[in-house]
Amino acid sequence: MFSAKYASLDKQIREILENVEAPSEERVKGILEERKTERLRLSGVAELLKAGNDKTFDLLRDFMIDNFRKSEGNKLRNISPVYLSSYCVDTCGYCQFSANRKDTQRTRLSLSQLEEEVSAVIEEGNHVIEFTLATDPEFTPQKLVEYIAKTKELLGDREGSGILLCSDHLTQEAYRELKSAGLWGMVQWDETLDRTKYMKWHGQSPRKRHFEERMDNHDRAMSEGLEVATGVLFGLAEFRYDVLMQIAKARHLEEEYGRKPFVFGTPRIKPIGGRVLHPKHETNDRRYETALMVYKIAEPEIARWLQTRETPELNFKNILDGDVYTYRCGEVKPGGYKVNKKAVDSCKGGQFGVNELERRSFESMLRDTGFSVNYAWIKRPTQ
Ligand code: SF4
Repeated sequence: MFSAKYASLDKQIREILENVEAPSEERVKGILEERKTERLRLSGVAELLKAGNDKTFDLLRDFMIDNFRKSEGNKLRNISPVYLSSYCVDTCGYCQFSANRKDTQRTRLSLSQLEEEVSAVIEEGNHVIEFTLATDPEFTPQKLVEYIAKTKELLGDREGSGILLCSDHLTQEAYRELKSAGLWGMVQWDETLDRTKYMKWHGQSPRKRHFEERMDNHDRAMSEGLEVATGVLFGLAEFRYDVLMQIAKARHLEEEYGRKPFVFGTPRIKPIGGRVLHPKHETNDRRYETALMVYKIAEPEIARWLQTRETPELNFKNILDGDVYTYRCGEVKPGGYKVNKKAVDSCKGGQFGVNELERRSFESMLRDTGFSVNYAWIKRPTQ
């Protein structure tokens, strides 16, 4: 389990960060050359995360375009989030669903509403669906089994279709049952793995305060054969620490289970209920884009998940062949594609502020950038 390695990784990463210096252009070129023959060490990753002046940043940008964008035939993979519930017992200060927010318009999809909502997503042509829900005690693993089975039935035998789940952390037994019902993957943003910062944000949350238990959630899912998405929420702690720890976590999972997370999530804190937040560790665009690039340089087989928290313009500057993309997210509220589209106000009833695209505009932007998108991309091992 990752928690068994955490203390020594935390010490190692803090030491690296205390001593790291911003690299010169020559040094950046040297690191990029070295990674061709051996896996980039965490100390090298830390140096690249310091490549923040215009010249070193541009060097990284050019490297990404040269190495991870083809002259033609670049592909993205779409995921469509479907929110199941906005009822939550936890109290994260960056989220409109926090139990402390009394003005949130809360909703929970019944099974028949789920059917309507998922059908709307499938009719639009999207066949990879991510269930998203807050820490809602009504959504037990048994209830999730029903929702997954229903969605699987709606997706039918369409090749490449699949279901992912982003929920409260669960037991290994629960993941076993969910996988049998048809779940393909688990999504969890660790928020931050800086324990002190994590507890500052989540220490009062009934479920989320369990830092270690949550830290091992990826292990529990992978040990049951699920694929996983990992990542942090940028803005809670120092971004370099978070990126290094996520890379260390991805490497740990590969060592233990023989496969890596399929994607790094890339969320940043966004406005909630129309109010802009300014956390102490706010990650500006330069730092955010540096983090996106460094993830790919360090772990080229892992995609990055670009999504509606950011503007399409920023996303399209950064997309690379093989990345995951969400162009529409049902306004981050349960029923946002159809069932509650009009009934629930997106500002009060959505989890945070987003920038959605209609499918036609999304595809037109893709064409202009030399990309296309796969809406049913999940590959399963042949039996
Ligand atoms: S981030 Fe998740 S756990 Fe925290 S308040 Fe929002 S929905 Fe609840």
